[in-house]
Amino acid sequence: MHPESRLPLILVTTKQGSVPHRYVDAVRLAGGDPIVVGPGDPLPGAFDGLLLSGGEDVHPRHYGQEIAAPVQETLKIDEARDLMELDLAHAALRADLPVLCICRGAQLMNVAAGGTLWQDLSLAGIPSSAHYQSGGDFWETSHEVVVEPGSRLAAILGAGPLPVNSYHHQAVAEAASGFAITSRAPDGTIESLEGRRHRWVMAIQWHPERLVRHHPVQLRLFTRFVEEARRS
Ligand code: MN
Repeated sequence: MHPESRLPLILVTTKQGSVPHRYVDAVRLAGGDPIVVGPGDPLPGAFDGLLLSGGEDVHPRHYGQEIAAPVQETLKIDEARDLMELDLAHAALRADLPVLCICRGAQLMNVAAGGTLWQDLSLAGIPSSAHYQSGGDFWETSHEVVVEPGSRLAAILGAGPLPVNSYHHQAVAEAASGFAITSRAPDGTIESLEGRRHRWVMAIQWHPERLVRHHPVQLRLFTRFVEEARRS
């Protein structure tokens, strides 16, 4: 096949035996060719971009902590997925491939690059449930973030207030070295990071894959990601 006729191959991570339909659909809509991998699945020999998707909490041992006793939410851990995704994140950073990291994916990338997480928002003085919106299918927005002017995120979504959905009880605590904080919620919660030492690494705490239909501006995250993967 002529290389230019090939769609960018996007590795989409997930838990074992699950197809993350919304991420897959968003990648296709953006012009990418998604390939889904869970723990134990064979990996393709090469890929053009990595999408780290949402899911359970990353084990705190990966950022040098034990499971904190007063955590309100049960920490649901998927050790095999942690290891697979940490390996893929490191490989993508080494190869300087574009990476789009969503929710758990954003937290995982921060940990892979040496940052830390709040195991529960309550440990940061924020109600544990404050970032869990209720009802619907998370296609409605529930809080704003303020996007940092001059960031790559601002070039994609615009600077200033941006309504997003929210479905997380953890968040980035200390951003990894080489990563800039590019948006926060009004309560101070870090809602996005981007790598400054890499070609294109975008970490998003909300769920753009669930907003693409009613908030089409959010599709730009995927189209920009796939465009970057096309250059891999
Ligand atoms: Mn949030």
